[in-house]
Amino acid sequence: MYDDNNIFAKILRGEVPCNKIYEDNYVLSFEDVNPQKKIHALVIPKGKYIDLDDFNEKASDEEIIGLFKAFSLVAKKLKISSKNGKGYRAIANISKNGGQEVPHLHFHLIGGENVGKMLQND
Ligand code: AMP
Repeated sequence: MYDDNNIFAKILRGEVPCNKIYEDNYVLSFEDVNPQKKIHALVIPKGKYIDLDDFNEKASDEEIIGLFKAFSLVAKKLKISSKNGKGYRAIANISKNGGQEVPHLHFHLIGGENVGKMLQND
């Protein structure tokens, strides 16, 4: 079940501040507090979805399209898109084996420099 007290739910309700990058009817995007590269943005749907599987099961087509289009809008705004920058990596960690820490669906957009190999053993 969705946990209303997770940190991103609090950010969406305005109870915890964030460095906002972009917002529309479907998503909020803000800077990750612990950036892994020069640019590290998070993009989250506004609806209460735990992870990608929960989202695809319950979200409307509009919400799904809204989230996926937002990646490119945010990337363009940050000048890391393939159109106006040098590209980036979009990652979603899903549940336990995926290493998900915050139980509200989020995608990491990481770039601003070469992000290296996709998987590291650590
Ligand atoms: P994940 O491991 O995929 O669940 O990623 C959770 C991400 O949320 C991590 O990269 C954290 O640095 C980030 N994070 C946690 N709390 C906050 C916060 N208050 N504002 C921004 N990012 C956060």
